[in-house]
Amino acid sequence: MILYDPSLTMRFRDYGIMLPISPDRGEQTLDFLGRNFYPCARGKSMPYPGPVFSIADALALLGGDGDIISRRDLERLHSGDYIAALYEDSGGKTLERELLNTYELLDARGRPRRYEPERAVEPLAGLFAVILAQTAGTYLACRLVLAEGPGFCYYLGGGMHHARYDAGAGFCLINDVAGAAAKILADGLERYRRPPNPGKPVRLIWIVDMDAHKGDGTAELIRFARERGELADPRQDAGRRRDGSGAPCILTLSIHMAKGWPLDGETLAAAKPGRAPLLSSDIDIGIDQGEEAEYTPRLAEGIRELERMTAMLTATAMLSATALPAESGGQSVPDLMLVVDGADPYEHDGLPSSGLLRLTLDQCLERDNFMYRYAMDRNIPSAWIQAGGYGERAWEPAAHFLQGIR
Ligand SMILES: [Zn+2]
Repeated sequence: MILYDPSLTMRFRDYGIMLPISPDRGEQTLDFLGRNFYPCARGKSMPYPGPVFSIADALALLGGDGDIISRRDLERLHSGDYIAALYEDSGGKTLERELLNTYELLDARGRPRRYEPERAVEPLAGLFAVILAQTAGTYLACRLVLAEGPGFCYYLGGGMHHARYDAGAGFCLINDVAGAAAKILADGLERYRRPPNPGKPVRLIWIVDMDAHKGDGTAELIRFARERGELADPRQDAGRRRDGSGAPCILTLSIHMAKGWPLDGETLAAAKPGRAPLLSSDIDIGIDQGEEAEYTPRLAEGIRELERMTAMLTATAMLSATALPAESGGQSVPDLMLVVDGADPYEHDGLPSSGLLRLTLDQCLERDNFMYRYAMDRNIPSAWIQAGGYGERAWEPAAHFLQGIR
């Protein structure tokens, strides 16, 4: 199924932000599917990739209304002080300050950069509500694939994987990817409601990040949550509990440009004394220029390493509640997978900083089809997030992938 809601579209120019992000890539993706093979795309009757849900449709199916992402949800992974700034607890324009930092809208001298407030038709602070709604979409995509059996949902939104513990970064104010995964674990949701495992809670989630840029914010938030003891640390013997009552676990894999931002950019550590340096994911795979043909084989290698880590977790009974689905053949797979489906590794993406990785359309499809088949063949519920995507052709990889899946 697809999750798409026009109310989630971030039209940066309405706020005076002149970034080359394509606000219509979700719309363009649906137009392509409808135009080419699915005349009933808007009638919710597409055989593949299934129906198109709006946020209201998702809530009608899952139950619930009102604020889907609460302040408490944001505080689960981000620092309390940072979230207080977003909610302007101490007055002043602290939200605006954080937005200006996150979208890099001021230069070193404090002059506007890529920012033309005189052309804005919306107040800058209004972006926060849209970002919260985007985050809600990522969470609902996870809920949908859990509720609908070991399913597949492609969410045309989200992907704010650079947001760090106490600051926004790289155009990402809050981290919807790690946040949605942590909220699913905190909810104690069932793996999925149908047999063979009704009633088993989700205890182990994989985040597979295929954006051109490293998923640095996600890695940091998960690492810090492990240090607080809220998430299990697969590499720390001391964190294991033989009775299986240990904390749940999120494993992270990021495959990205071997060089370029954020790997060689100014880190927050440099920008802010005492700040943590760039942290690694559980598995980081850097793809250098000219190595594009190796992208999917190396991704497959990384997935096998995730399997080994998962097997180790279950073997030590650290996560005994996550008995693997019988139909998976006993393989060491997660209860849920979030796939950050970056559009910016695509050779026709319009962001200069992602130009060090240039997958052809066929290579993007090879990547996406590999992950899709991996999840479907093992009955792993997978929620996909359309990350990145700059310029006029940003919609193409996802649209062609969705058109071809069966
Ligand atoms: Zn990116």
